[in-house]
Amino acid sequence: MNEGTARESSCLDDYDPQALSTEEALARILESTVAVGVVERVTVRAALGRILATDVRSGIDVPAHTNSAMDGYAVRSDDLGPGKTLRLAGTSLAGRPHAGGMGPGECVRIMTGAVMPAGADTVVPQEFTRREDDLVQIVDGRFAHGDNVRAAGEDIAAGQVALDAGRRIQPADLGLLASLGVVEVAVYRRLRVAFLSTGDELRSLGETLGPGDVYDSNRYTLYGMLVALGVDVVDMGVVRDVPEDLREAFAKAGECADVVISSGGVSVGEADFVKETLGAVGRIQFWRVAMKPGRPLAYGRIGPAVFFGLPGNPVSVMVTFYQFVQPALRRMMGETHWLPLSVRAVSATRLKKRPGRVEYQRGVLERAPDGTLMVRRTGAQGSGILRSMSDGNCFIVLPMDSGDVEPGTPVDVQPFHGLLG
Ligand code: AMP
Ligand code: MG
Repeated sequence: MNEGTARESSCLDDYDPQALSTEEALARILESTVAVGVVERVTVRAALGRILATDVRSGIDVPAHTNSAMDGYAVRSDDLGPGKTLRLAGTSLAGRPHAGGMGPGECVRIMTGAVMPAGADTVVPQEFTRREDDLVQIVDGRFAHGDNVRAAGEDIAAGQVALDAGRRIQPADLGLLASLGVVEVAVYRRLRVAFLSTGDELRSLGETLGPGDVYDSNRYTLYGMLVALGVDVVDMGVVRDVPEDLREAFAKAGECADVVISSGGVSVGEADFVKETLGAVGRIQFWRVAMKPGRPLAYGRIGPAVFFGLPGNPVSVMVTFYQFVQPALRRMMGETHWLPLSVRAVSATRLKKRPGRVEYQRGVLERAPDGTLMVRRTGAQGSGILRSMSDGNCFIVLPMDSGDVEPGTPVDVQPFHGLLG
């Protein structure tokens, strides 16, 4: 009877007592990866996408001078009475400051970004004034001391940290660095990542498919994900399921790269074979992770290089890369914040799911007409159906214990664009 119950529950769920949770697998990976830590100096534009190795402190106040935020008239706040008429003492343009002074009862015509003349503390926008020759009347009394003025050092004061070490440099940061007059920054050296595919059935582009053959797509998705991450890549090609070839390829990859990634050959039928091969060149552990897709995963070292043996199915490769490899690479690159963006969205459809594994279903995240974030699954979710990734713009992350999800239920979503966020 007991046996019957056990069999019945195993049909309804996916629990595997020997499997690691995704959190445990990631924690084990992260605790054994360290930042490469080698620093080089690059010019500002070359720093895009690189990881900043030291804090950048500003050598100047930004803005450097107290200046106007509007086109109008620079005045003394004492002179701000409604209907007050002031004498025009000169003009201050961006890059061409007013040279003379500005006494009580006077004003200076000023443009956005132009330096505030000595004595002035407030700008009255042009539309609240009336001018006749060199007399300017303030037609509105709503302005107070300091209005429409940007103080020197208000954005960043001299000596203040403008960008923190460990940051992935974004387009806005290039502009910020330029605004500080910074010419070069210290960044961590690029990581070198070698990757290869394993399988007798795999053919490279340009080859003809024989019976049972498939084109190798994993080296293309891996290439794309790695280049987007900003690492140097070494494509080691396809390796046949021949122990000697594998041993040689892994050893070579371990010598030329910081990280080696393989795909295929880690599922149950092949694990022993790859295990035996890798045992000769490195220290590798084989894990079953409670996730779908991507249950089998190998992790360890080939010489000094970190090794990831990803499953062969095309979607599994991408899921395990984003969930485990990318965080580890980001840590090795010296990046401090590498958590992907996660948002809540309402499931538009029913999601089939068995308890026991975390599922990374592929979805399309979009705003409903009422503004709600909704997510719907892309078509068939098989781990070999790359189309499900291509059609999607996010992972729908369903927790281990969750069963089927009914329409209208909020779910966690990782937008693909936020995976580097
Ligand atoms: P494996 O993990 O080696 O058992 O492979 C699982 C499935 O993924 C098999 O159907 C393989 O043909 C397929 N596969 C493995 N590697 C690749 C690859 N590089 N490109 C496309 N499909 C692959
Ligand atoms: Mg294989």
